[in-house]
Amino acid sequence: MKIKTFVFNHFGENTYVVSDENTQKCAVIDPGCFFEQEKQELKQYITDNNLIVDCILFTHCHLDHAFGARFVSQEFPQAKICAHQNEDIFITEALNQSLRFGINMEQPPQITHYVNDGDIISIGEIALQALYVPGHSPGGLCFYSAKNGVLFSGDVLFANSVGRSDMPGGNHTVLIEGITKKLLSLPDETIVYCGHGPTTTIKNERETNPFF
Ligand SMILES: [Zn+2]
Ligand SMILES: [Zn+2]
Repeated sequence: MKIKTFVFNHFGENTYVVSDENTQKCAVIDPGCFFEQEKQELKQYITDNNLIVDCILFTHCHLDHAFGARFVSQEFPQAKICAHQNEDIFITEALNQSLRFGINMEQPPQITHYVNDGDIISIGEIALQALYVPGHSPGGLCFYSAKNGVLFSGDVLFANSVGRSDMPGGNHTVLIEGITKKLLSLPDETIVYCGHGPTTTIKNERETNPFF
């Protein structure tokens, strides 16, 4: 498994390209590229490495994670668009929402594949398990590979912090419960790739995150 991190858009969002070296298949997790240069940077990486985009994988569909979804699906039309069903509303509302921020974005494409808790997403020989952790967003998903010891946590868990829960469908209690039960129970050495900010480990967060 190869993981490439991009930091995109006004919100400093992390977009990840997760690729399988054996099959060249990849997933674009949370395509947040907004500016033309960011879009080209992402496309360049994919084409330079001869990657086949198998899917766009959303941890959730807040604007900052979806700005580049239209671009990626246009450039790589074979890519499935995977997210939890509860995120449909953010796709529908994306343009209205973005205008409230004074941002003019492209309409993200509809979700084509709904992902539920426990589902396995295959990217070539890579298997990512979906963990449903609502509370930041009603359809929040984290993606875990036990074999590779990595977790993509979206805006659920950050280094020494957790996601905010004051946006539509948010709930702090539910968020903390979900993180405690489903994420902090993962092996110590699991590397956490967050939706914003640096990577961390489950051990770090269990020991030093002030929310626990
Ligand atoms: Zn978010
Ligand atoms: Zn975010």
